[in-house]
Amino acid sequence: MAPPSKDAPINVVGAGIFGLSTALHLARRGYKNVTVFDKQPYDTTLYSYLNGCDAASADMNKIIRSAYGSQTEYQELTFEAIQVWRSWNDELATGKDLPPGLDKHDKVFYNCGSLYMADGDVIPAFELATIKTMEECGHKDSQFITTDATHARIAESRGQGFALDPFKRKERGKGYLGVLDSTGGVAVADKACRFALHRARKYGAKFVLDPVAGAFSSFVKDAQGKTTGIKTKDGSTHTAALTIMACGGWTPSLLTQLDNLCETTAGSVFMYKIPRDSPLFDRFSPEAFPTWIWKMRDGAEGGLYGFPRDDNGYLKLGYRGTKYTNPQPQPDGKERSVPITRWTEDSQLTQVPSQAKKVLASFVAEYLPELNEESIDVELTRMCWYTDTFDNHFVVDHVPGDEGLFVATGGSGHAFKYLPNIGNWVVDVLESVGEERPAIKAWKWRALGEGKPINVLMEGSTGARALGNVSMSEKRDPVAVGESKL
Ligand SMILES: Cc1cc2nc3c(=O)[nH]c(=O)nc-3n(C[C@H](O)[C@H](O)[C@H](O)COP(=O)(O)OP(=O)(O)OC[C@H]3O[C@@H](n4cnc5c(N)ncnc54)[C@H](O)[C@@H]3O)c2cc1C
Repeated sequence: MAPPSKDAPINVVGAGIFGLSTALHLARRGYKNVTVFDKQPYDTTLYSYLNGCDAASADMNKIIRSAYGSQTEYQELTFEAIQVWRSWNDELATGKDLPPGLDKHDKVFYNCGSLYMADGDVIPAFELATIKTMEECGHKDSQFITTDATHARIAESRGQGFALDPFKRKERGKGYLGVLDSTGGVAVADKACRFALHRARKYGAKFVLDPVAGAFSSFVKDAQGKTTGIKTKDGSTHTAALTIMACGGWTPSLLTQLDNLCETTAGSVFMYKIPRDSPLFDRFSPEAFPTWIWKMRDGAEGGLYGFPRDDNGYLKLGYRGTKYTNPQPQPDGKERSVPITRWTEDSQLTQVPSQAKKVLASFVAEYLPELNEESIDVELTRMCWYTDTFDNHFVVDHVPGDEGLFVATGGSGHAFKYLPNIGNWVVDVLESVGEERPAIKAWKWRALGEGKPINVLMEGSTGARALGNVSMSEKRDPVAVGESKL
């Protein structure tokens, strides 16, 4: 399919990482008439969850890891992204032409490492596959087994010794076997989105970030059913040669052709607040503490991950052992899962599922007992919604039968790290460049049965993961800051 001409209007709907990166790279590669629409007023809310943002990308932090088992397509995509993450840090450090509110001391990436914690004395097959694949791909000495003395020496010589046993298990007489992905670390998500937005604007992309004028309400079609633009909530029509839908967890209900390919699911997030005068403030800083993952492929009793604290002292831990859904009746009579957060209109949701809280509590007691000893409690929780595909691969393709409509979604809980580069790949797909690359093939529009199923989708409101059927934590979380929406 021919790409739009460089002067043709292009609509991008959604300013999360898929939309931001796509707009940035379209504009960088010479597309002169790119407009991004989003219902979130990000120029004032600054991509902060604390200010009422509920997109997956609008967050304190995200894990960056190139450890992907034998999936070299994502491994190499991460190496490409990390180069740009580093260059964005370098640009910030110059202090020149920065987004409003950021200065030369800000960073968008800390290379503090990403630690996979084994639960016991066996390294799981996925991590072993990563070690093998990395060596085969020329990335020797990038993955360190925490209990291996040679590996530990290398990690220490590179200033990452702290990441081998961040839970101080050894001095507590407990096992600390794990694999440290030394290439990884933490992305400072909200600042990174602001950086990308600023950069996209510099290249000439336009943004309509407004709850009414920026909110997509419907597609405009011609007599043949081809998409010729969109309507926004203010009643305006925005004609375009191409419309790219990148609405994260909202995409499956807006683009119903995605049924059985994508579904909106949620992770449960907990934020402890470390007081600035606590000794734990330095202990959990991104210069001294890695991102970590624990029992990620062990079902409902595992699936935890965590971060160093952020600038404000928030120490975030997340649970993905169960991917929750919120199936709701749709205008066409079907049920589809849609995001619901404390910020959704008329929502009373300020709790997280009890199961998530239970797994978190037992992990904290075993791995982070100092939080309980210092009486530091969860200050804020969040249900964070993203788009799962049945095979965990993204969807970056034209919508079949409609050459005016394209989709970039299906992040499946692991796309944030590609903010700097995914849009370049989206433009490659639009221009039919490098179509034989495994990632691009994996991201093609597909039907259930055409790939290896990993996630079960669309179980509906009777499914065990539907929030309506799940016990929620009895205690409303003790939020002060969460009530202060701008
Ligand atoms: C709990 C959790 C933890 C995660 N952890 C990691 C991690 O550690 N590392 C990692 O790499 N990835 C991680 N991810 C995945 C990553 O956050 C997502 O893949 C990525 O942010 C998705 O970006 P997106 O652009 O698809 O969607 P979003 O960021 O959700 O953005 C969608 C945008 O569309 C807009 N929109 C929706 N409807 C409309 C409409 N009608 N009109 C206009 N605009 C609209 C929304 O306002 C929003 O701004 C995690 C995700 C979650 C939920």
